[in-house]
Amino acid sequence: MRLRPEIAALPPYRQGRPAPADGFKLSSNENPFEPLAGVAAAVAAASDFNRYPDATAADLREVLAERHGVSADEVHVGAGSVSILAQLVLATSGPGDEVVYAWRSFEAYPGLVTVSGATSVRVPNRDDHSHDLDAMADAVTDRTRLIIVCSPNNPTGTIVTADDFETFLSRVPSDVLVVLDEAYGEFVTDADAVRGLPLRHPNVVVLRTFSKAYGLAGLRIGYAVGPLAVLDAARATAIPLSVTAPAVAGALASLEAEPELLARVTDIAARRDALFEALVAQGWAVPRPQGNFVWLPTGEATAAVAERLFDAGIVARAFPPEGIRISIGEAESVDELLRILGDIVQNPQ
Ligand code: PMP
Repeated sequence: MRLRPEIAALPPYRQGRPAPADGFKLSSNENPFEPLAGVAAAVAAASDFNRYPDATAADLREVLAERHGVSADEVHVGAGSVSILAQLVLATSGPGDEVVYAWRSFEAYPGLVTVSGATSVRVPNRDDHSHDLDAMADAVTDRTRLIIVCSPNNPTGTIVTADDFETFLSRVPSDVLVVLDEAYGEFVTDADAVRGLPLRHPNVVVLRTFSKAYGLAGLRIGYAVGPLAVLDAARATAIPLSVTAPAVAGALASLEAEPELLARVTDIAARRDALFEALVAQGWAVPRPQGNFVWLPTGEATAAVAERLFDAGIVARAFPPEGIRISIGEAESVDELLRILGDIVQNPQ
């Protein structure tokens, strides 16, 4: 079979290992809370599976448009925000074009760019693990079609400040699309962080998801808010009908139950901040986390530390030779984690 060589060489998207019995799966930045009963009921009620879903998720777009102060056509719903990002990459970039993003950042970015035929331009994060927006702006050439900014950044947890984002945008040509990936935006507590919504720029698309703060990862639903022409181009590249009716029902019910869900987000953020403080006290050089995860810069010891965590029942995501990303999970997992990581600090081998 004559496969495209760059696709044949592309590793599949990596999922976390399952947790051992009595262990904790802290490798996929999932929401540890069970679905709300009302949300589960709404999902179950969307049971006319013999029919295709509404291709554009119009009801959900109406609700989202109202809360973000845009028209319903300036909202686009996809089967997870990653599928919308794939559409935006295809809509903007092809062979000979360049897509700029920070590195490390979300593992899916390189694959999406390769699939489009475009070239990835990875700009190393600063020593404090945050995006180097100056270097990202410097990396723009006349071939650049898209820049992805991730705040909070997966896996390092750092934010981009509103001021730095504005300065950065002032340096980006207006015909280059900037995607602000806010998959973890609801967990942000830093008042200086950029907030993509309400929209302020004609070349910015903001990506949001129901997977993290709203706990619907398994339903696959996310959305983009942005300029009509860009979203129309994304819609043109989308696989038709991939957003299912149960997913839309789950998203609508989650928006109705938002106060309860955001109270959970507040809990997770508080658990995160407590873990961060405790890790710093143990001596770990953890950057201040703003998503629902923490980043341990374990360097060359990454694989060994991940293995010790795994042996103790904790599945984390290892990125050798840089670090380990640990999701904020069940309350009990935090004590366990601190016990093991404290032990690792004391007995590194
Ligand atoms: N962006 C970032 C930064 C992520 O970490 C993730 C999920 N890991 C996504 C997008 C995709 O989320 P989803 O497709 O579930 O909406």
